[in-house]
Amino acid sequence: MRIRNAVLIMFIALATCANAKPLTIVEDGKSQAVIQVAAGQPKAKKAAEAIQKYIQKMSGATLEIIDEGAKSDAKINIYVGHTKAAAKRSLKIPTGFDPSVRDDVFEEEGYILKTKRKDIFIAGNETDVYKGTIYGAYAFLELLGCRWYFPGAWGEVVPEKKTVVVPHLDVLSKPDFALRGIGLNTGWVPMTPQDHTEYKEWTEKIAFDSRGDSGKYYPLVGDGFLGILLPPDKYFKDHPEYYAMNKKGKRVIGEGDILHTTMLCLSNPNVYTEILKNLKTAIAEKHDEQGPNTHRISRHGIGISPPDGSPYCYCDACDKASQKFENIQLVYGPQMSEEYYGFASKLARAFPEKFVATMAYSLRELAPQGVTLPKNLAVMYAPIAGCALHDNKDKSCWRRIEYIKNLRQYRKQTAHIYLYEYHPDFLTGLFIPERQTANATVNFPLYKEMDIKGLSAEGRKAFMQTWTSFYVMGKLLWDADTDVAALKKELYFDLFGAEAGPHLQAWWDAVEAHLGAATIHLHEDFMLNNVYTVAFTSSIQKHIDAALAAGGTATQKARVVAVGKIAEHLTAYANMEAAAMRLDYATAAAESQRMLDLKHELNKIYSHFISETFPKSKKPPAFISRGRTNEYKRLLSYTNGDQGNKVGELPLDMKFVRDPYNEGIFSEYYLPEFDDTKWDMRNTHLLWDAQEEPLDDKGHDYDGFGWYRGTFKVAKSAKGKKVIFHSGGVFNEGWVWVNGQYVHHEPHKVWWWWNHTFDIDVTDAIKPGKVNQITVRVWNKAELGGMLRRGFFFTPTDKYVPKK
Ligand SMILES: [Zn+2]
Ligand SMILES: [Zn+2]
Repeated sequence: MRIRNAVLIMFIALATCANAKPLTIVEDGKSQAVIQVAAGQPKAKKAAEAIQKYIQKMSGATLEIIDEGAKSDAKINIYVGHTKAAAKRSLKIPTGFDPSVRDDVFEEEGYILKTKRKDIFIAGNETDVYKGTIYGAYAFLELLGCRWYFPGAWGEVVPEKKTVVVPHLDVLSKPDFALRGIGLNTGWVPMTPQDHTEYKEWTEKIAFDSRGDSGKYYPLVGDGFLGILLPPDKYFKDHPEYYAMNKKGKRVIGEGDILHTTMLCLSNPNVYTEILKNLKTAIAEKHDEQGPNTHRISRHGIGISPPDGSPYCYCDACDKASQKFENIQLVYGPQMSEEYYGFASKLARAFPEKFVATMAYSLRELAPQGVTLPKNLAVMYAPIAGCALHDNKDKSCWRRIEYIKNLRQYRKQTAHIYLYEYHPDFLTGLFIPERQTANATVNFPLYKEMDIKGLSAEGRKAFMQTWTSFYVMGKLLWDADTDVAALKKELYFDLFGAEAGPHLQAWWDAVEAHLGAATIHLHEDFMLNNVYTVAFTSSIQKHIDAALAAGGTATQKARVVAVGKIAEHLTAYANMEAAAMRLDYATAAAESQRMLDLKHELNKIYSHFISETFPKSKKPPAFISRGRTNEYKRLLSYTNGDQGNKVGELPLDMKFVRDPYNEGIFSEYYLPEFDDTKWDMRNTHLLWDAQEEPLDDKGHDYDGFGWYRGTFKVAKSAKGKKVIFHSGGVFNEGWVWVNGQYVHHEPHKVWWWWNHTFDIDVTDAIKPGKVNQITVRVWNKAELGGMLRRGFFFTPTDKYVPKK
């Protein structure tokens, strides 16, 4: 039986009965009320201080905070926390914390806001980890007009009023989702301590948790928690058979942080026995507060999970245990759900009083077949290859359809499913806007309907990319029926003023609508090059221009300028991609640099707009602007005489044919004289999925072999010189012929940022001063396919350094 669910009663009425007169707590700048706090309740104290601070900001009046019962002449009492006065009135305040294994665990949070004659009561569940009274205090202040749209002062709106009137209140509010966390303090984008503090404070204002706190509910899980259970430094020497076998038949442990990078051989019965023994010892000795065991057990149970990437044990027994279900959303390894969940379930059954938590991630995303999950197995659902462009009800997005179907299979087996969604500014690298607010608006009511426990995800402090989505998610996670349209309207009005607000909303809405209309399914920015085009970004610039020209207060105008820079940053992205398509790498590098400059400018305006710093990495990865700028500079130097001289260009459009039956090889499609007049044409900078109509109404695309053919002129100056073909990539595997001569096989690669480019020596096949012919056969097993990021031919100078 479920008791949670939502806002049970949300009733705010003005003067509907004799008892219900509005209460004037500040009159003409003078305090009329006192805040009475229950003694010895630090969370209530904090809530009281928040009320005092913001009433003061609104009106200039300071409401005195006193211990409950202390003498006061004030006409109105605001009782905060579990006060005696509330008890005397028999008010039912949510309370209690019971973490035992049951379907409705962690669902007792909530608060009341009530007025009784001259008294106001603000109190919520403060037991253990809950912060109900604090959330209640901010909900009270929101009723009075305060808003916290973004962390810190930049996103705060406090109305000025000399007289503050509290309407009659009779509210009991409980969150729809127990877990409501996005933590920004992890991953590649570090935060300053100040930003971190601001973010933490903000999460309380919008009733989020920070992700690090998710361990306070279910046991924390993270990549590589298996290695901790059977530390390789202790066992590997004597028992290499405990550890995963690689493809070459060798037992191996991970690299670097071996505790978190080592995969175990889960089919070995001794692995289970030894882990069980270690866990029992750790629990008996209460290891959870110290040392390397911190993450494997918590007071509510045990977190387990293989390392990041696609770990797999290739030993005969493990390989046989894997039922080899293909997951077409993934292209990088055999599925191991049956074997893995068999192991996790066995472990969970050994600790029926505790939760065992794990992640449905990587090779373990598919709900297992033929395995019954025990009721105490908690699953953090984290399918990495999701589509960030579409929502869960979009019938034309096969990825979201499959995502939900898979999630439903997990939910059938255990009530303890929560989400780690790859959309909160997680994977697209360059911090261009994503479609998150629109998706969350649709997705969270569905998650409520499915009875999912909530969200526990990692984010980045890139509010120029996530924009309103964290705020909206906070509201939806508390109340899935929140009217987001009204919320957004209010936000644009409050932050930018009546004149500029609607224009900026029009800009962001146009961006989200455009992303939602895309017929590709992805979450990586480098595949957005056909979505964010120059034509599109220029078509919506009018909204920004109108907002910049509009009136408003100085604060509002400064905020408009910032959004103008976010728009400029997106325009630079579109310009960069358009330049790369023309092989104009000087412009592409300059636009990429412009993006970086704008990020710095935005960061100066508001620190929660990303500052691109990667202190751990000397060589910036290609998915951030610094890395991308370096890539374009490298390509420029291959063409401008520095590392090389460009002698030919891969055609932007080439002849193309699908080859679903793999006939091309037999029919010698690669011969220069082959008749391709009946073939289609495809752009070689964009994947074929980006230029083809979907195959069906679910948005499926063609997967299989495809052939490209084209001709190009090679400069005479290449005579007697080495000639290299630079390719922007083939998804996910490719074969190249030049003038009918076979020259290269490019092996399968996982789609991941910028690891697809390759340079190959084609000197023997090339004819300088003549028209040459090139044929490329591409194979994609699943998902997106085709040639990408065009390419060119160059003669290297002695300075040429091939990319590693
Ligand atoms: Zn094995
Ligand atoms: Zn999609």
